[in-house]
Amino acid sequence: MKYVYFFGAGKADGTGEQRDLLGGKGAGLAEMTRIGLPVPAGFTITTEACDYYFKRGRKYPKELRAEVAKHLARLEKLTKKKLGSATDPLLVSVRSGSARSMPGMMETILNLGLNQRSVEGLARATKNGRFAWDAYRRFVQMYSTVVIGLSKEELEARLRDMKARLGVKDDTQVSADGWRQLVGEYKAHFKQKTGQDFPEDPVEQLWGAIGAVFESWMGEKAVTYRRVEKITGLLGTAVNVVQMVFGNTGEDSGTGVCFTRDPSTGEKTFFGDFLLNAQGEDVVAGIRTPMHLSELKGKMPRVYQQLEKVREKLERHYRDMQDMEFTVEAGKLYMLQTRTGKRSPSAAFRIAVDMVNEKLIKVEEALERIKAEDIERLFYPVLDPKLERTELVHRKLAEGINAVPGAAVGRVVFTAHEAEEWASRGEKVILVRRETSPEDVGGMYVAQGILTATGGKTSHAAVVARGWGKCCIVGAESIDIEADVKKMSVNGRAVKEGEWITLDGGDGSVYTGQIDLVRPEPPKAYETLLKWADKTRKLSVRTNADTPRDARVAREMGAEGIGLCRTEHMFFKDFEQPEKSIERQDAIQEMILADTSEARRRALDKLLPFQRRDFIGIFEAMNGLPVTIRMIDPPLHEFVPHEHAKQAELAKKIGIPVEAVERRVEQLKEANPMLGHRGCRLSITYPEILEMQVRAIIEAAIDCQKRGVKVLPEIMHPLTLDKKELKILETATRRVADAIISEAKVKLEYLVGTMIELPRAALMAGEIAEVAEFFSFGTNDLTQTTMGLSRDDAGRFLPVYVDQSKAAIFKDDPFQTLDTAGVGMLIQWAIERGRATRPKLKVGICGEHGGDAESVKFCHRVGMNYVSASPFRVPISRLAAAQAVIEEKKRAKRK
Ligand code: PEP
Ligand code: MG
Repeated sequence: MKYVYFFGAGKADGTGEQRDLLGGKGAGLAEMTRIGLPVPAGFTITTEACDYYFKRGRKYPKELRAEVAKHLARLEKLTKKKLGSATDPLLVSVRSGSARSMPGMMETILNLGLNQRSVEGLARATKNGRFAWDAYRRFVQMYSTVVIGLSKEELEARLRDMKARLGVKDDTQVSADGWRQLVGEYKAHFKQKTGQDFPEDPVEQLWGAIGAVFESWMGEKAVTYRRVEKITGLLGTAVNVVQMVFGNTGEDSGTGVCFTRDPSTGEKTFFGDFLLNAQGEDVVAGIRTPMHLSELKGKMPRVYQQLEKVREKLERHYRDMQDMEFTVEAGKLYMLQTRTGKRSPSAAFRIAVDMVNEKLIKVEEALERIKAEDIERLFYPVLDPKLERTELVHRKLAEGINAVPGAAVGRVVFTAHEAEEWASRGEKVILVRRETSPEDVGGMYVAQGILTATGGKTSHAAVVARGWGKCCIVGAESIDIEADVKKMSVNGRAVKEGEWITLDGGDGSVYTGQIDLVRPEPPKAYETLLKWADKTRKLSVRTNADTPRDARVAREMGAEGIGLCRTEHMFFKDFEQPEKSIERQDAIQEMILADTSEARRRALDKLLPFQRRDFIGIFEAMNGLPVTIRMIDPPLHEFVPHEHAKQAELAKKIGIPVEAVERRVEQLKEANPMLGHRGCRLSITYPEILEMQVRAIIEAAIDCQKRGVKVLPEIMHPLTLDKKELKILETATRRVADAIISEAKVKLEYLVGTMIELPRAALMAGEIAEVAEFFSFGTNDLTQTTMGLSRDDAGRFLPVYVDQSKAAIFKDDPFQTLDTAGVGMLIQWAIERGRATRPKLKVGICGEHGGDAESVKFCHRVGMNYVSASPFRVPISRLAAAQAVIEEKKRAKRK
């Protein structure tokens, strides 16, 4: 096995493709060498050697020593310098570099090869004793801390003492002698701490450094970084041993970092920083303020021109924006690293579109380069990036699950009712609850953001907030809420009603006080790119929207219809005329409390005009696009008041004794409401509800049609489990609808279909399709019922299941990214069976997964007609649907 890859003088053993083996840096150095860029020579020890090292109890492969010696000799020959030589010695840097960039997480040692003899050689060759001794003390310091693990602080303290003794402020004012003394002190310190002399032998130094770089792969910060960034499956770090070039040999030298395009706007301008007379770590340390590249152009025009050429060459070669590190030594440019540059979401769009226009890449590549997070982060307000990190750390109150990204600032309230009251006075509020229920939607709607102490990413709070694109953090378990005394506390820190907090839904952090937010503007390139996506994709993209307002937002986001309108949300809130909300609530509660079907009908009659008006609004907003409306779904218990005072108030309003209210509420209680009297079971037992809802839909549709608004209603029954059950519902639906249509003497097309949310329904899909004209997979419930995991409670243990450093049972949260292996198998079966019965069966998905890129790709593969996502996720689904087509083409090509 070959463990060492050489590069230098225009030739390289490796290539840019071998990132897994050589790491990003090693692959970049090899590739830059191959294409003729000025790269200092060196060699890369592979990640396979690192893998071996850890797998065999920290032993090197036996052939490694000989291979390193051979390539070191080759390097010495090429550079005509010798490691440790007393005349013009070779010095090397020893750098880490894994296949995925892990900035600052692993170790680097510079100036290796210096010792008592070669430091003199370096001084003679450069005619600069000060420089040589400065280089030596840097090396001794790095080696002592990185390789041996001595305290950096103690060494820094000696440097400070020395400068104080000499009466100088800046490092640049220290003389050769000063550095020489410091080296002596460092070495004495080294001996005192380790009982050994500082290594003089450069080869010993080299192996010490190689070991330290390997070890840094398993260092705490690197391990944590990989966990947080979900980086798995890598072999380890490579080690790059590269001839040193110096940016600190005088005013014609320096070091810099640059991007081939502006990483925050994406504009095609050369962007970067340069520090005169400095070594790499000085730029990173940020002690001195660097100059902009445009200044370099004036100061070193030849170097700048060279750099410009490199920029062009690298972009043409890699066909993507690059982030480069370079050093100028005595007027000569050296490239030390190149990698794909990290960019802001809006830059990602601009660069992708510009590169297509420049014919650098194809439309398909541009589409593949944008990630779901780029779109997501484009629209949500974020914490002002100018805020100091230390300030954030100081203000952090708690952490929860980042259910909906974006940020929100507001004053804390603990009930939905208060949220509405405060908001009506023009206050900005954050609604803090243990969990939310449909009763809370009014308060949730007016809040800037929502914070709950329990729940996961598909809890009620998360689902509803996502629909509105509203910042939401759930499952912040460290928060103790005492709503009765209007207070919450976290580890002894209390926050009372009315105090300001800030939520960062991006990472789930909760901060005290008000933090400034900024809202990013979507760039022009965003529109262009999504148009390309629309031309490419086969899946339609609809939205989950419950109100006319949501429907309008969703259309702006590119929705081509509504895939799920959850009618029960309208029972609690009048989104167009908020002052009327109370009438709706009264009517629904009266309906639920009724103990005869007549009393129920009377209450439903009051609800009818509200529902009709809502549907008219939605049909108008979707003008001619299909609208799927779902019949009532949640258990009725969720709609009635549970506190005594509210029950008394309600009893008074509808003129029945409070005991009757209490009794009915008690009756509605279920041990397991999610598997209880809900979904279409409600319409089976209370057909009046179905009748009212169908009437509202059909009357609204006729009203719109008469005014020239095209309508395509699709009436959907949730949670069906049997063909016979659906047949009863379908018959009732058609009886009501057809009677209204024939009475109105109009022609109106409508469909009747069902959600598939239970394994039995999926298994029996062939029979169910005899009745249903369409299937919509409710994958929130289907995941819950297939896996036997509660969507509301699984948040307690799922993090352990998903954490790759813990149980690692799932790759992703199955409530977020579809479990294609299990739940997906049922979906595939149901589609095949359904279409075997009814070849034209329309099939879609309306669970949260409809807005998740990976899940959308699955929906394409199994031949769905559409996906439905909450309004702000519609663009994500549009893009993912296009990416699915591109991936399919690639797969076909490979075959
Ligand atoms: C589902 O279960 O996937 C669904 C869309 O319905 P709900 O989330 O309202 O239960
Ligand atoms: Mg459901």
